[in-house]
Order: sequence, then structure tokens, then C-alpha cells
Amino acid sequence: MKMNSTVLKSLKMMKKLNDIEQSWIKKFNTPLIISGPCSAESEEQVLETAQRLDKSYVQIFRAGIWKPRTRPNSFEGIGEKGFYWLKKVKDKTGLKIAIEVASAEHVKISLKHNVVDVFWIGARSTVNPFSVQEIANALEGSDKIVLVKNPINPSLDLWIGALERFLSKGVENLGVIHRGFSSENLIPFRNQPNWKMVLDFKNLYPHIPVLCDPSHICGNREKIYDIVKQAFNLEYNGLIVETHCSPNKAWSDSQQQITPEKFSEILKKINPSKDILEKLRIQIDEIDQKFIFLLNERLKLSKEIGYVKNKYDKSVIQINRWKEILLKNKKLSKYFGISEEFIEKILNLLHKESINIQEQF
Ligand code: PEP
Ligand code: MN
Repeated sequence: MKMNSTVLKSLKMMKKLNDIEQSWIKKFNTPLIISGPCSAESEEQVLETAQRLDKSYVQIFRAGIWKPRTRPNSFEGIGEKGFYWLKKVKDKTGLKIAIEVASAEHVKISLKHNVVDVFWIGARSTVNPFSVQEIANALEGSDKIVLVKNPINPSLDLWIGALERFLSKGVENLGVIHRGFSSENLIPFRNQPNWKMVLDFKNLYPHIPVLCDPSHICGNREKIYDIVKQAFNLEYNGLIVETHCSPNKAWSDSQQQITPEKFSEILKKINPSKDILEKLRIQIDEIDQKFIFLLNERLKLSKEIGYVKNKYDKSVIQINRWKEILLKNKKLSKYFGISEEFIEKILNLLHKESINIQEQF
């Protein structure tokens, strides 16, 4: 009995996660590109990096201010003063801001400064349900965007479980980041991509935006282009890429960071928006063709009506019927984003054409 209710609860949660459209991503251009340094190091470094990013691609600036480091005694982040620098980045460039949070305290301080638009949950936090729950509790009811990185070990359940913990606290603007999975082999990738697991995720939760993090998958600069290309081939919704004004001098993840210019070069070469534009155009062409087909069906019916009117000697123009059609269809305006004026214009054209056809009898 107890078992059944647990299964039922998790099925309900799965359905809920799938039912939410995740419309937050529509407020951004696609693909959604996040970029900036691994860590915020100084005001000058974040500002210079942000200013050099190509804003025709990049919409969100990332910079870690609390850094989860594998070994102690390495740079663990600049902490709270980073918010003042990130505020300057936001004011000067208009970019939105993303940081990692790993505890309730991080969330509390971040919300107090009110600069951050997007929180990401690091791979080392996603593996720990206690940490995730603590962060979810601290964000309860928030409309901030939360992007959950895959856990360092390849467990789809842990990844989904983290999303469910946010959802059950009313944090509904969600997405995931694919940053690869730890393994003993560090070549050619620091973290193995395991693309299949992400495709499984996309099949289970088609509405949840998936971003790729080539920097942490690669651990080096050389392979970033290949991973970006693969992510777009697999129709990811975007990228999060580490860029630094002086990558060789970076205080963390120096080997995988690239300059903002190098990143623009990669994006220009792949030109993801061109691919997306082409796909959208194909969809438009298909809809236009269906539209013409339906117009033809509609005019064929007008012709039949013309035949009947002629047979029973009724006038072609029947003003009340026309008014009724206009009224009925203009009412639809409130259900769609189409104005009443536009509906009326289209119907007038259609009416004129119908009358021409009917007058031929
Ligand atoms: C990061 O984005 O800088 C980071 C620490 O990432 P991850 O959690 O994927 O290791
Ligand atoms: Mn990093």
C-alpha cells in the first residue's frame, strides 16, 4: 500500500514536470547562449570579459563567485563582493546574470543582492539530494530560472530527482545543463559526454530546455568546437561556455577557457541561428502550403453554394449571413494573437473571391 502511493506520487511528479511548458526560454533568442569566466576574479576581469562578448549571440553572463574545488587550498571564489561587480556587468552590458549556488546561504545572499537572474546547480551538488533539497527550500516559490547540471556520475534518476525537488517547492522555470560525467579517462575529454543519456532525458522530458557545457566536458580548448557542433546537431536549446579575457591567467579551469573572440569565431563558423532560421522557414513554408490547400477547399464550398443559390434563385449577396460570419470569426481574436482587424481583412478578401465565383453561375 505504502509502495503504491510512493510510485503514484513519483508518476504524478513526472507528469507535472512534463506538463509545464517551460515558456521562460521563449523570452530569449534561440539558441540561448550563456558565457563568461569560470570564476569572477576582479571587477576589471568580469567587465572586460563581458564587454568583449558578442551580444548578438550571448544573452547571459556567467561567473562563479563560490567555487566548488576538488582539492582545498585552491581558489574557492571571491564571495559576496562579486555581486557588486556583476551588477556593474549587468548595468553596462544589459546581459542577464547567472551564478552557481550550492547552499541555502548562497541563495539567501544572492536574493538579497537581487542581481542574479539564473541560478545553476553544480554537478557536485546535483549528486547530493540533501544539498539540492536545501537549495530548493531556500528558493521556494521563486520565479528565477534554475538550471541543473548533470550529476558527476551518470545517473538519470539523480538528475531528474533534483528537478523534482525544485518543482515540488514551486520553482517552475527549469532547465538542465549537460557537462559530462566523470571517468578515469581524461582523454580526449575531462568528462565523458555520454550523449545517449541526454537523448534519453530529452525523450522523457521534451519540454525541458537542455544546454550544453562544452568547457567542462572538454577540459581543454581544442575540442570545444566539436562539442558545440554536436550539441547543435542534437538540437540542444543552447550553450554555457567559459570565456576569460586572459584565459592563461585564469584562477580556475584555465586550460578550458577561451577568449570571447575565439568563442565568437566558433559560433560564426557554426552559425546556429542560421540552422534554426532555416528550420523555422521550412515550417512556415509547410504552413503556407496547408493554408492554400484549405483556401481551395473553402472556395470549392463557395462554388457549391453558388450552384445551389442559382438553382433556387437566391441572391448571391446575403448581407445577414455575411455579418454573422464576420462576428463569429472576429470573436476568435481573443483566443489567438491575431487582431480583429486582420481577421476582418482576410475574411473580406475571401468574401470577395467567393462572390466572384458565385456570380459566374
Ligand atoms: C562551473 O561551471 O564552473 C563548474 C564548477 O561546473 P561543474 O559543476 O559542471 O563542475
Ligand atoms: Mn569551471
